[in-house]
Formats: sequence, C-alpha cells, structure tokens
Amino acid sequence: MKKRKVKPTYRPETKAIRIQPGRTHNMEHSSPMYLTSSFCYEDAEAMRAAFADENDAYIYSRFSNPTVEEFTQRMSALEGAESGFATASGMSAIFGSFMAFLKAGDHLLSSASIFGSTHTVITKFLPKWNIQHTYFDLTKPETIEALIQPNTKMIFVETPSNPGLDLIDLETVAKIAKKHNVLLNVDNCFATPAIQRPLDFGADLVTHSATKWLDGQGRVLGGIVLGKQELVDEVYAFCRSTGPSLSPFNAWVLARSLETLHVRMERHSGNALSLAQALEGNEHLEWVKYPFLKSHPQYDIAQKQMSAGGGIVCFELKGGLERGRRFLDQLELLSLTANLGDSRSIASHPASTTHAKLSEAERLKVGITPGLIRISCGLEHKADILEDVLQALDSSR
Ligand SMILES: *Cc1c(COP(=O)(O)O)cnc(C)c1O
Repeated sequence: MKKRKVKPTYRPETKAIRIQPGRTHNMEHSSPMYLTSSFCYEDAEAMRAAFADENDAYIYSRFSNPTVEEFTQRMSALEGAESGFATASGMSAIFGSFMAFLKAGDHLLSSASIFGSTHTVITKFLPKWNIQHTYFDLTKPETIEALIQPNTKMIFVETPSNPGLDLIDLETVAKIAKKHNVLLNVDNCFATPAIQRPLDFGADLVTHSATKWLDGQGRVLGGIVLGKQELVDEVYAFCRSTGPSLSPFNAWVLARSLETLHVRMERHSGNALSLAQALEGNEHLEWVKYPFLKSHPQYDIAQKQMSAGGGIVCFELKGGLERGRRFLDQLELLSLTANLGDSRSIASHPASTTHAKLSEAERLKVGITPGLIRISCGLEHKADILEDVLQALDSSR
C-alpha cells in the first residue's frame, strides 16, 4: 500500500492542506472535529502514564486536543515554527506571550502603533504586576537601542501596523534584540504567514489574531503563539493552567480556512493593490497608503520582507471627521463593521468609531488623522469594490 505522508520537504502551502490527525477506522477524507472536553484510558496504568507525561496521550482539551493540534501544526508549518499554542482569541495569545516571559520588575519595549486592546493590556494591566513599558516609533528603529534597559525582556512590534500601515525592518530589529538578549515578539496578524514570516528574519515569537485573515470569513475568534519549542513550552505552561485554550470547534473552522489562505491572500492583495493604484491622486483624497505602492515611505522594507501588500488600504479624505462619517453613509457594497480580513470588503473610520474616545491630539500621536479611512479588501470583484468607493467619494463631497 502506498503511504501518504506529509513529507518534511513539502512547501508550507501543501502542509497547510495536508497536515491532519490520523484517520479513524471510518477512513474519512476531511478531518473530523474532536468536540470533546476530555479523553479516556483503557485502564489505571494508561491513565497514570498519561498524567505522568510519559506519553503524548490526550488528557483534557484545556491542555491539548487533536483538532486544535491540527490547526497548530498547520500554522507552525506556515510560519516555519517548531511549535505553537492556540488560544481563544488574538488577545489571549498576546497576553499569554507576555505573561509567559515577563515578571515583576521587567520592562517591555513596544512600538507605539499597536492594536487598541494590546495598548490597554500594556498600559493598564501589566503595571499591576509591576511590568513597565516604553513605546517607540515603529518607523524609527534607530531609536530602539537607546531605550533598552538592563531589565528589558521583550520587544513587541506589529508590522504592518493597524491602522497606519507603517512597517519596521524585521531583520534590523531582530539583530538588536539578539545583541541585547531580548525576545522579539511580532504580531503578524496583518500580513499572515502567506505574505510575511517573521521567524525567517530572526524573530523569536509570532502572535496572531486568527479572527482576521486566518479565518477569513468573519466567523470565529482565535489566536496563536508560535516559536521555538522551548519558548512555546513556557506559553503552554501558563495557558494550560490559566485556561485561554482554543475551542475545538473554532480550531476545526480555522484549520479548514488555512487550506485556502495562500489563494485568498493573493486575491485580497490583488484587490487591495488595484484599489490603492486606482485611488492614488484622486481629487477627494489627501493621500493613499499601501505597502506595495511605490509612494509608501517604506516601500523598500515591504519589498524585502513581504511577498505581497496584504488586504488593507488606507486613505485620508479631504474634509476630515464629518466627511469620514458622510463617506461611510454613502457606501452601498462595503460593510460597516469592526472586523477586518473578511471575504466581504469592510470600511472603517477610526476617528469616529474605534478611537473616538481619544482626544484629537492623542489620535494624531498614533497616526489617526480625522479623515482616515481603512478599507479591508474582500474577495469580491475588484471593479465592484472600486466603483463603490468612487461613488461614495463623489456623493459625500
Ligand atoms: C484583532 C487584532 C488583535 C486581537 O485579536 P482578537 O482575536 O480580536 O482578540 C490583535 N492584533 C491585531 C493586529 C488585530 O488586528
């Protein structure tokens, strides 16, 4: 009988499709969903051995589960990681990656333009455990080294950043981290491993919100931390006891999604690039930003570490805050929703929604200008996306 094994030499795209738990006696082609909270043993000896960690037998789904493992192994193959631990959301992945490596008295160095809830964790909760932080400007990596303190344990970055689409050269920041024996933790949510693999550039940890492009259809929450086995062991030790584990149901949905990740990201990026190109120079806009537009200030970094520009396009409307609200009201196809990374295109206006509680000065500090619009390009025909944006620009003047 011919053996169908997932060869180590297969490319990440192939592994993301072919890695699956061993078939049951039913010989199913697609993976079953192991929706079970615990696992059984034939006898007392088998149970003792499982609890003594003498084998890999499953015990309880807060620790591990075959469906969650399928998602984790596929993600590890995609990111080129030794191992990973999947979590209930992107935030629990990020929080878990902080708690596993930071203790009272430590210092975290983070880029300033990061996801809102990550900012809340760093500024509101980490200080409760006496974990201090300093923010740096993502676009000024030359400032990082002077900010490293003797107690700095981790550098955290998001590239491309949300919503500003700023980038940092991962190889440069990884070299700084290595020199000072500090962990580099990269939130790779915006690019996904189909476009950018931070571990290849020297990062130690990669964190994800699987809720976005990895799911790709706006259905489930999920997250994951990936890296070397010894680092993931620390994350596992924290999460196994504190309980932010990914549901096997969500893991099943997400593992299926990874089978189409490369195909989807190619289409999302193609749609986004053509939207960005078509909008550049439009009379209603101050500027258009997209990593693969030659006008992006860090176009060279994008070309170096990303294989495509990703699905997000940003632009600044002439007419500021009120124009932003009128623009949203005129859209006929694009959804108004808090998510991104969906098969349906989404428009958002951070100044009047996600960042409305900040003062204008605070917003400007993290790159949120009054007329900033963020478009998450879906999988619809690119001409329909463009036409909707153009008609909304015209009718919101
Ligand atoms: C959404 C998001 C998160 C948080 O993920 P959840 O799954 O919503 O918890 C973290 N980082 C980035 C860049 C995000 O876009």
